[in-house]
Amino acid sequence: MERIDAHFHVLGDDPDTVALLGRLGIRALNVCVAHDGWSESVRPGFRELARAHPDRYAWCTTFDLPDYATTDQQYQRSVIAGLARDLRDGAVGVKVWKHIGMELRRRDGSFAMVDDGVFSPVFEFLEREGVPLLTHIGEPLACWQPIDTPSPHAGYYRNHPEWHFHGRPGLPAHADLMRARDQVLARHPKLRVIGAHLGSLEYDLTEVAARLERFPGFAVDLSARLGDLMLENREKARAFFIRYQDRLLFGTDLVSTRPLSSLEPAGRDRIHGTIRSTYERWFRYLESDEIVHAGEQAARGLDLPRDVVEKVCSANARVWYPRLPQ
Ligand SMILES: [Zn+2]
Repeated sequence: MERIDAHFHVLGDDPDTVALLGRLGIRALNVCVAHDGWSESVRPGFRELARAHPDRYAWCTTFDLPDYATTDQQYQRSVIAGLARDLRDGAVGVKVWKHIGMELRRRDGSFAMVDDGVFSPVFEFLEREGVPLLTHIGEPLACWQPIDTPSPHAGYYRNHPEWHFHGRPGLPAHADLMRARDQVLARHPKLRVIGAHLGSLEYDLTEVAARLERFPGFAVDLSARLGDLMLENREKARAFFIRYQDRLLFGTDLVSTRPLSSLEPAGRDRIHGTIRSTYERWFRYLESDEIVHAGEQAARGLDLPRDVVEKVCSANARVWYPRLPQ
């Protein structure tokens, strides 16, 4: 079975990395993020990788935030023109990132959420074109909790205090961000939306299930949430995968934005080791009933039925990203 990693950020442009993915049977969807020039620096690389190795890579584009220097109409026209160009260049989806809702502010200083009217024409364009929107909106609940609260995400907030919202009045709450994302789903019923990272509802699969029930156009990817899944009751998690087997997309969130061809062999080997161990851990969790270790956590694998694994790890990505080359 070819497995599709639907959430990847690795500029693996050297022959060894392409060969490694081939040996592992992985096709990876490289996702652009618009932050700190990150998008412009990786966009051409992700695009060219997908062009050169369509059997190993695909790519998902993004768009810049409004800087309010131009009118909303000018901004929307330029975003849509850029997305149309990227779709012609093979992009299979469009990503919005957490800075929408958590960083971007309107002219009056208030936070601009993902349901802000400025984005509506962009989402309508995607709806018309049948292009899915990948949303990383909000953060794990740990973002709003004291740093010493046990969580698979505590380390991230220790390293990225700028994104740790606990105890900082005036910043949006987790529920505000979820409400804004749900509002986009309600307003654009034909838009396919893939909520990255279990839709930022990793703390309780019941919350994810509620959205999947309410919004038929919503799916979630699993990326970077293995630790949260391992904390769930195993029977509850297994039942969740079986019930929503058509709405879950496997992904890892592996990151390396420097072209691997530019690294010393030792650096490349280290990244290859991470790639191998990440897939090994994930597939052991999904497919076996063996004990899986992740950091200090350990849990028994879900031992999912073969057809469920096939959907989650492969077929669903083709359904939810219909432009993925078959
Ligand atoms: Zn990511």
